Amino acid sequence: MIEVANVVKVYRRGKTEVRALNGVSLTVPKGQFLSIMGSSGSGKSTMLNLLGALDVPTSGTLRIDGKEISRFPDDQLSQFRRDRLGFIFQFFNLLPTLSAVENVILPELLSGRSREELEPKANALLEQFGLKGRGSHRPDELSGGEMQRVAVARALLAEPALLLADEPTGNLDSKTGAEVLRLIREATRERNLTVVMVTHDPKAAEVGDRLVRLADGNIVGDESVRAAA
Ligand code: ADP
Ligand code: MG
Repeated sequence: MIEVANVVKVYRRGKTEVRALNGVSLTVPKGQFLSIMGSSGSGKSTMLNLLGALDVPTSGTLRIDGKEISRFPDDQLSQFRRDRLGFIFQFFNLLPTLSAVENVILPELLSGRSREELEPKANALLEQFGLKGRGSHRPDELSGGEMQRVAVARALLAEPALLLADEPTGNLDSKTGAEVLRLIREATRERNLTVVMVTHDPKAAEVGDRLVRLADGNIVGDESVRAAA
């Protein structure tokens, strides 16, 4: 599913160079839930941005489903992102003036599909995620956990192959965070979705299948996670 080979990412700011990734190689099979941990500045977000085709590596290759994403022209890249990738963020990134349903369907609406087609799917997802009857609520009428569940529904609406999550529980209390993680785990397992999740929280990493540790742009640990009983 994902093949990362010798990826180096160097940021240049004026005369200073930061080597955010220092030759990282990693293979993630389809359906695997991979957690990436590491201290602040270790390269986690850089890795996720490269996998999400939001940035390109300085050298090395990233393949998703056999396709080398860093070689895509811009128009193909945005289409690939829309069709194949789902994103979840720490701060939910919902639009405050839109209802929950409208937030869920917005990306697909912008890529040209109709509201009539999308709304029933969005409502079904919201219901599956325990938000029946909340579809017309705006984000400020929802709790943090509910907002993140809306964001998960938005990420899954287009039936992506790969879900990328950057600290999805970083803004939730531990009980709510655990509930949201369980939901992500179940919803992605059901769909045989590959997940790459960046987290600070060792508890969060336990829901995944595998844990990779980053330090100073290098992989310093790679272990499988025993499913909690
Ligand atoms: P993490 O998400 O693990 O905290 P990042 O991937 O955000 O780490 O950053 C890794 C390193 O790259 C840090 O030293 C950070 O300061 C640097 N960095 C990240 N993004 C940029 C950028 N756009 N320009 C310059 N340096 C950056
Ligand atoms: Mg980060």
